[in-house]
Amino acid sequence: MSTHVHDAVIVGAGFGGMGAAIQLQRLGYDDLVILEREDDLGGTWHVNRYPGLAVDIPSTTYSYSFEPNPHWSRLFAPGAELKQYAEHVADKYDLRRRMRFDTVVDGARWDEETSTWHVAIEGGETVVGRFLVTATGFLSQPRLPDIAGVEDFAGTVMHTTRWDDDVDLQGKRIGIIGTGATAVQLIPELAKVADHLTVYQRTPIYVSPKLDGPVPGIVRGAFARVPLTQKAARLAGTSILELLMVAGVLHFKDLPAANQLGKRVCEAHLRRQVKDPELRAKLTPDYDFGCKRPTFSNTYFPTFTKPHVDLETTTIDHVDAGGIVTVDGYRADLDVLVLATGFNLWDVNFPAIEVIGREGRDLGKWWRETRFSAYEGIAVPRFPNFFSLNSPYSYSGLSYFTTIETQMAHMARLLEGMEKKGAGVFEVTERANTEFLDRMTGLLGNSVFNAGQCATARSYYFNQHGEAVLLRPTSTLSAHREAVRFPLDDYEFRTA
Ligand code: NAP
Repeated sequence: MSTHVHDAVIVGAGFGGMGAAIQLQRLGYDDLVILEREDDLGGTWHVNRYPGLAVDIPSTTYSYSFEPNPHWSRLFAPGAELKQYAEHVADKYDLRRRMRFDTVVDGARWDEETSTWHVAIEGGETVVGRFLVTATGFLSQPRLPDIAGVEDFAGTVMHTTRWDDDVDLQGKRIGIIGTGATAVQLIPELAKVADHLTVYQRTPIYVSPKLDGPVPGIVRGAFARVPLTQKAARLAGTSILELLMVAGVLHFKDLPAANQLGKRVCEAHLRRQVKDPELRAKLTPDYDFGCKRPTFSNTYFPTFTKPHVDLETTTIDHVDAGGIVTVDGYRADLDVLVLATGFNLWDVNFPAIEVIGREGRDLGKWWRETRFSAYEGIAVPRFPNFFSLNSPYSYSGLSYFTTIETQMAHMARLLEGMEKKGAGVFEVTERANTEFLDRMTGLLGNSVFNAGQCATARSYYFNQHGEAVLLRPTSTLSAHREAVRFPLDDYEFRTA
């Protein structure tokens, strides 16, 4: 075992882990190690490389506010530009030398005697740090469908997170299972090259128009020369998203008209793009807008009107060597099977690794045996010196960067407060955690998740107990205000 004690061990080299590292460096904690299971940095934007991948939040908003990028080519940048941006950030903030790739973390354990975290890496090595930050992402554990026979398929099978550019799709008979945000981007691209495309839809999704387009050179120039212009664009984008989230989703009970507006925009989009009433009915969700993450596309609906594209809504019975058989006995012969089946959040994530805190508390077990909770979406009682970035109630707003920066602010207030007290260990109190959970539970009562009709949505926002604990049910402004002002006595401090 290494006897060296790092200031912090960060698990995950995506935007969350890099944000935490930047903040820790600013606060004077310079000895950091960032452990990453993949072979390069960027998290989601390194792993996902499927055709059509793009951000679906305006790029001026989907980036760190302190590191604006004037070079986005489009309003909604393609995935490759996000990966480039991640590389730029890693280089600028000197994070690359702290990263260790192809390093799979098995688990982490708090050692009370030395007040340190012992992080076990696959292969037997242990890395030690004063602080532990888990930045393992919300959507990082791919879900493979529980459909019999997938392993018997004789053609090529690809989950969207394991895209293989060497697979030739031209002129092939392609089947895709899933119609989530990933499939909405991928399906139009597959239709361009496939001889025949069959889309297996279990639950339709709300799709709104995407106000996308290239960013003109003159605007990019203005962003580069006068950063205030980009700040204004960011503010506009963030405000629209905030309005959508707060009025349309979180205040569903008080403002049903705002939610209805979101639904109507998507329905009108579908009506404009699909004239066939039977096809339109199949593509129309029967749950309330916002139960599931809405998506944005101008090309998704029209794809289903093409003669070589079928929308299959009959339940899949099984897969065999040659294709997919539905419960009515119909068999579609396929060369390639694409699994756009999303991610498993509630069984194998939360947390993504085993985390054992004080007095042997196992985070994953504790969450499942009691309720999923985390004070301000970042701290958990009996887990000293631990920042859990992908926690219940941590996701604030629609852009992940809002969450990241809120958490960075929380880290700064907490660690500066701890230093002032001359302490070396923090731990959130059970009282503060319970009060926060009760407050969030109360607020959820007003949201579409509790007050709306979400039963048929099959939304990953809901956990195995039927609670929608992924998103923080407050405005991002309120989340940020609390991050910079929370009472320090919600934590206990002691010397290391
Ligand atoms: P997802 O939203 O969870 O969708 C998974 C799809 O697979 C659903 O349509 C689901 O159907 C279907 N499915 C799963 N298991 C199935 C089974 N056994 N049989 C039939 N269908 C099955 O996953 P995703 O599309 O990968 O998107 C996840 C999230 O990633 C998005 O919500 C978004 O937050 C993020 N994302 C972001 C971007 C971006 O540009 N920023 C792009 C893509 C994704 P049911 O609905 O019936 O379960």
